[in-house]
Amino acid sequence: MQFDEALEVQRAMAIYAHPDDAEFGMAGTVAKWVKAGVEFTYCMVTNGASGSQDPDMTRERLRDIRAAEQSEAAKILGVRNVVFLEFEDGYLEPTIDVRRAVARQIRIHRPDVIFTMDPTMRYGGGYVNHPDHIAAAEVVLRSINPDASTRQMLPELWQKERLEPHKPKALFLMAFGNPDTIVDVSAVVDVKIKALLAHRSQIDADSVDFIKGWMKEAGKKKRYAYAEGFKVLRFEEEGARRRDTRREERKAPRAHGRRASRSTTTSRPARRVR
Ligand SMILES: [Zn+2]
Repeated sequence: MQFDEALEVQRAMAIYAHPDDAEFGMAGTVAKWVKAGVEFTYCMVTNGASGSQDPDMTRERLRDIRAAEQSEAAKILGVRNVVFLEFEDGYLEPTIDVRRAVARQIRIHRPDVIFTMDPTMRYGGGYVNHPDHIAAAEVVLRSINPDASTRQMLPELWQKERLEPHKPKALFLMAFGNPDTIVDVSAVVDVKIKALLAHRSQIDADSVDFIKGWMKEAGKKKRYAYAEGFKVLRFEEEGARRRDTRREERKAPRAHGRRASRSTTTSRPARRVR
């Protein structure tokens, strides 16, 4: 799938803390990309065992319920692989064990694009961000430099498991405010809502209007009925740089203008506990 003139995507991976994190911020984009032929992998870092106020619930039962809900949501969206790393929900820190586990999955699945949350988002709009969201996003940043991309970092992955270093072409951070890239998801909004509602222990039908309102707001500036917003970082590939150099040698030099940002809009962060 050609996302834009500079970014071709065959494989994408979402790395996030809890079941439903990906569905809230990016399930429309997932559904749209899967329809366009992208192979999608979910990598859920925690086991989701903290997400309940019910005194009769146990962490063990909730872990199993939420894993089943996440698998169902992924199936609705057409996500090919779902990886459960099963670190304890609510206790996540960017330790070297978590970093190794995430880097391993990136080296196995070799995504062109990685999605995660914005690790700089700590609070705003009456919402304090969950520390697991920040920790998971921090681990993703560290995976790009150096954990997944550098041969002599975590050398056991390369030496013992034969997992070559990998760096994606781009990182998409789910942005609830000030995104620089807006994805039109109008055609797949119903698929997104269906996937969200698969998280029955977390979301009920009353939340649908709120989520749709939030997606409408994200699409306003571009006149999309429903949209999702991201902050996008692009990384130069080693191979691409070599190809560019050869091309430059053959042709007269031309200016490489940095593409203007695609759009901006403002939207409120989700008001939810998790
Ligand atoms: Zn969460």
